[in-house]
Amino acid sequence: MLPPIRCFTCGAPLGHLWEEYSRRVSQGEEPGKVLDSLGVRRYCCRRTLLTTVTYVEELAKYPVYARIREKVVRKYFVESEGGDRVS
Ligand SMILES: [Zn+2]
Repeated sequence: MLPPIRCFTCGAPLGHLWEEYSRRVSQGEEPGKVLDSLGVRRYCCRRTLLTTVTYVEELAKYPVYARIREKVVRKYFVESEGGDRVS
C-alpha cells in the first residue's frame, strides 16, 4: 500500500531508494537493472521493492476511504494542535 521503509525480511533500510526506483521504472528502465545500480543485492530486498504496489492514492478516490482518511487526519493532526476530538 505504502512504499516500504525497510525490507520485510532482513530489515535493511529501503525507504530512501523508493522514489528513484519508482521514477526510473515508470520511465521504462528494467527494474532489475535499476536495483543493481542502486546497490540492492540481496534477493529479499529486491523482492520487497519489486513487489511493492502503491495504491493508497487509488483508494483515496473512494468515499469510504476518504471518510477514514478524514478521521485519521482529524485525530492525529487537528487534535495535536488543540482541536476537538472526533469520536
Ligand atoms: Zn532484505
